[in-house]
Amino acid sequence: MSDPVTKLNEELKQEPELETGFDKAPPPPPVTTFGENNLPLALISDIDGTIAFMSMDDSGKPTRDFMDFSKSESDVPNQKVIGLIRAWYSLSESPTIYFVTNRTVAWRDVTVRWLIKFFPPSSYRWTLRMRPANDFVSSAAAVKEVHLVNEIVKKFSVNQVWEDDDDCILMYRSRGLMVLDAKETWPKS
Ligand SMILES: [Mg+2]
Repeated sequence: MSDPVTKLNEELKQEPELETGFDKAPPPPPVTTFGENNLPLALISDIDGTIAFMSMDDSGKPTRDFMDFSKSESDVPNQKVIGLIRAWYSLSESPTIYFVTNRTVAWRDVTVRWLIKFFPPSSYRWTLRMRPANDFVSSAAAVKEVHLVNEIVKKFSVNQVWEDDDDCILMYRSRGLMVLDAKETWPKS
């Protein structure tokens, strides 16, 4: 009788070789222009806390008030989420990015100027949806749900959402959408 190690080696020799070759893997699914419901594809991203952070001064204090978007042009890009959006965009055929934000339309120009820096319209098709100027009471999630239900899902099949607000994440998920919680990409302090 052989010793246990020799025995194990003998047994291992008899194991069929694992098929690890990538040539055996099934082909990747084809990239298509259309998603479920035969609608063109869309990606949804929030802005504040998701793709944009307030810039900080040397002492670590924000350089603007959270609700003062007049200075938001100096916001710092969250490269992790921006990189993910760009990657998803490049993997989809003719997608549209919806930037859906709780900022009011009063801040449209400064917001567009910032977005253009990271998503130049020559390379990315996107649109911006904001809080109506006359709505001071609805929650952020309610505002975003109106955009989603009244417009986006009527025209598009949504592939992915990026969002940092818990209520908004819950709203999107309750609508059956896949959401990446952007808080998971925040720098660890
Ligand atoms: Mg946010």
